[in-house]
Amino acid sequence: MTDGRDRPPLAPPANFTWVAETLESHGFEAWAVGGAIRAAVRAAAGDPSPVRDQDWDDVATNARPDDVCRIFRRTVPIGIEHGTVGVLARDGTMYEVTTFRLDVETDGRHAVVAFADTIDEDLARRDFTVNAIAWRSATDEWRDPFAGQADLERRVLRAVGDPAARFAEDYLRVLRGLRFAGRLSFEIDPPTRAALEQAVSGLGRLSAERVREELLKVLRDRTPSRALGLYREVGALQAWYPELEAVAEDPEAWRRTLEAVDAIPRHRSLLRCARWVLPLGEDGEARTERARPLLERLKFSNADARRVLHLLRHYQPFIGPMDSAAQLRHWLAEVGHGSVPDLFRLHLADARASAEPQMQAYLIAAWRRVHDEMLSAPPLTLADLAIGGDELLALGVPGGPLIGLLLEELHAQVLEDPDLNEPVELARRARALIEPGGLIGRDSSGASPEHGEDV
Ligand code: ATP
Ligand code: MG
Repeated sequence: MTDGRDRPPLAPPANFTWVAETLESHGFEAWAVGGAIRAAVRAAAGDPSPVRDQDWDDVATNARPDDVCRIFRRTVPIGIEHGTVGVLARDGTMYEVTTFRLDVETDGRHAVVAFADTIDEDLARRDFTVNAIAWRSATDEWRDPFAGQADLERRVLRAVGDPAARFAEDYLRVLRGLRFAGRLSFEIDPPTRAALEQAVSGLGRLSAERVREELLKVLRDRTPSRALGLYREVGALQAWYPELEAVAEDPEAWRRTLEAVDAIPRHRSLLRCARWVLPLGEDGEARTERARPLLERLKFSNADARRVLHLLRHYQPFIGPMDSAAQLRHWLAEVGHGSVPDLFRLHLADARASAEPQMQAYLIAAWRRVHDEMLSAPPLTLADLAIGGDELLALGVPGGPLIGLLLEELHAQVLEDPDLNEPVELARRARALIEPGGLIGRDSSGASPEHGEDV
C-alpha cells in the first residue's frame, strides 16, 4: 500500500493458510478481511486484547461459489445467495469464503448482490472503514482504500462512503455500527453518527431474525453495556425493545441492569438476555407477561423463550443459606434442578455488579447448601416418587383426578422428608389419605399432615 503506514505483523492460524493457499493454487486470490485484520491493527496500536484464531474466519476471493464448492471437499452452503460458502478445515473449523461482491440493487433490508472482480470493488461495499481492510497472505499485499487503519488507530467508527446511503442500503448497519462502537469503545464519526441517528427510523423494516442475531452478537461481546447503552441513546431501543425504554428512564435501574449483564460470562448470551429483560416487572408474573411479547417479536425459538421466561419467573423468591433442608427441597422442586446454576449466576451477577462482597459470600454459602442437598439426589419430581399411578390403582384407588391429587400430596410429604420415599411407606400413606377424614375429607387448600403424625 502507498499510505506509508506500518502494517502490523500477522500470524494466521494454519487452517486459514491452508484455505488461502488452496484457493491461490487454483489461480484465485484469497484475502483475509473483517475481525482478524481489525484486531491485528488494534493490537499493534496498543489494544491488549489478542487476535484470536476464530477471528480469521472471513475470506474474500474472486473464486465464484461453484468454484469454491468444487475446490474444497467439505463445504456448507451457508449463504450461497450472498456468495458465501462455508469451508470446513480438517479439525472442523469453518471458514466463510465469500466471493467479491458489488451491490447492484437494495431494498433497505437485503442487499441483492452481484459478483465483482476485484477486492477494491468488494471493499467499497463494506459497511465501516475499519471493516474494509484486506490482506492477501500469498503476496503480503494490503488494501485499505478508506483509511480504516487510521480510523482504528484514532478509535473512530466511520462509514465507507456516504453514510446516509450506506445505512439506507441495509439498516442492519445501524445496529452493527452500535455494536462495533460499543465493542471497540470507539467514537462514532460525527457525520456517520448523524446519519445513523436518522436511519434509526428504518430499523422497523429489518427482519426480526437479523435483529435478534445482532442482539445476541452484542450479548456475546465482553462488555455489552456499551452497545446496549448506545441502543438507548440513538433510539434503537425504542424501535425494537420499547418495553425496555421505560426501564431505561430510571437511570439507576438501567445502569444496574447493564452492569449485571456485563457481569455474566459472555458465552452465556441467553442468560445475559434474561438479565437484560429482568426489570420489566416487579414479580415473576409481571416479568414473564411483559417479556413474552418481546421474545416473540424477536422470534426467539420456543426453547430459548421458555428458558428465559422460566428464569424470569423463578428469579425470586430465592433461597438463602439459613433455609431448612425441606425449604431447599421445595424450592428445588419448584424451579427444577436444571435451572439452579443459572438462577445462582443471575444473583451472583447482581452481587458482583453492585460490588457487594457480603452478598456474594451469602450466595456462595447458599449455593453450597443447595449443592449438598442436590448431591443426596432427593426425590424432587413426581417421577422420582417410589410409587406411581399404577401402584395406586392396584391399591384400589379409583382412576381419574384423585390419582394426581394423591401423588401431589405424597410428593409434598416426601419433599419434607425424603426418607418416606419407599413403596411400602407411600402405599400406607396413600391408603390413609383416601380413608374418610384423609385427603378427600379435607378442603383442597388443606396443608399436608405433619410427618410423624399418624395419618
Ligand atoms: P465479528 O465476526 O467479530 O462480528 P466481523 O467484522 O468479522 O466481526 P462479520 O459479520 O463476520 O463481521 O462480517 C465480515 C465482514 O463482512 C465485515 O467486516 C464487513 O466488512 C462485511 N459485512 C458484514 N455484514 C455487512 C453488512 N451488513 N454490510 C456491509 N458489510 C458487511
Ligand atoms: Mg466475522
